[in-house]
Amino acid sequence: MVRRLPRRAAAPAVTVLRIGHRAGRDPRLTTHLGLAARALGAERMLLHPPDDALAARLAAIGHRWGGTFAVEGVADWRSAVRAHAGAVVHLTMYGLPLDRQLPRLRRHPRLLVVVGGAKVPRDLYALADYNVAVGSQPHSEVAALAVLLDRLRGLPPPATWRGGTDAIVPRAHGKLVRRAPEGTR
Ligand code: SAM
Repeated sequence: MVRRLPRRAAAPAVTVLRIGHRAGRDPRLTTHLGLAARALGAERMLLHPPDDALAARLAAIGHRWGGTFAVEGVADWRSAVRAHAGAVVHLTMYGLPLDRQLPRLRRHPRLLVVVGGAKVPRDLYALADYNVAVGSQPHSEVAALAVLLDRLRGLPPPATWRGGTDAIVPRAHGKLVRRAPEGTR
């Protein structure tokens, strides 16, 4: 007799909302947040306040390396939180431990993961369905998001990165990049 294993629910689809971005002051940090969100399997990043130059830089990364990750500016982050059709997770060192909250987070088909900048508005704690800590020590939004996405979804499969002009061929030494033939992108 074939024993049926319990089917593991699909990992939740993740949208990241970055609030408190200071265009022109910390473009590198928010760019790294977008890069980590994309590479670790989030579907898109909402950015408050909007920053067209940063969105264009991340779109160029997607054009080269593939996938469908997108960045959208939002003028009013509270409306974006309220409009989200799914659970809202606020990453904060003051929240409940990630390991404890993971089983609950995994039950949702869609998550909006909110990360802050230098100062986080107080009402976000009440707007969120979950306030989640990746360790109860201060560190960085990039680190917190990376750990959450890894625990929640693991690394995306290689097929995620279809459609780019370039693909990395993993090597023990040196660098090898394969260029996609014209017409296959
Ligand atoms: N001092 C800010 C505040 O008012 O909470 C936090 C600033 S921290 C540099 C920027 C962001 O990193 C936070 O808003 C949070 O999203 C994330 N973060 C930092 N440490 C974290 C932790 N231990 N767990 C979860 N998220 C964390």
